[in-house]
Amino acid sequence: MTCIFSVSWIVTLSLIYNGSKNSCILITIRWCYFLCFTSALQDRDNKFLTKSVEEAYKAVECGDGHPFGAVVRNDAVVVSCHNTVLRNPNLTAHAEINAISEACQKLNQNYLADYEIYACCEPCPMSLVAIQLSKIKRLVYGAKAEAAVAIGFDPSIADAPNQKSELEIKKADGAVAVTAEQVFENARGKFLMS
Ligand SMILES: [Zn+2]
Repeated sequence: MTCIFSVSWIVTLSLIYNGSKNSCILITIRWCYFLCFTSALQDRDNKFLTKSVEEAYKAVECGDGHPFGAVVRNDAVVVSCHNTVLRNPNLTAHAEINAISEACQKLNQNYLADYEIYACCEPCPMSLVAIQLSKIKRLVYGAKAEAAVAIGFDPSIADAPNQKSELEIKKADGAVAVTAEQVFENARGKFLMS
């Protein structure tokens, strides 16, 4: 709908400027194209981020682990995983690590340069390094790591050194980010901290 709305702006503003300043038409078209593009990107990010939130709840509900989920995708979802530190047990079985491992196995390759990862929460240092090593091109996350720290997770998970990476990192905003933050309050006390 936002895209249609933007296209209507192209027509409207083009009519206003038509015959007087062709450059204004071009600027308007470019502006509306930008709006369409960013809107489509936002819709796509929300869709895959919501799936990572669903995985976070699944981790707690089935007793596999802690409330974290991650999705690896290109045009479609390649893998959708959650934290499984309690299942094996294995403290390295974070959602992002599981997602990268499963994606590499499924695709039979070590690097994921053409792929993006969506994490319901800001990745910890270990997971962020794994994302960087995999050469994933883009990371989108919902909740700040402090939201997990607030319900008892080790504060070190909020120390991911993401400034030195060429990886594109986006912190989601809006309703989907609030939904991701709520994971931790809703999961409080429903899993073991080990
Ligand atoms: Zn992690």
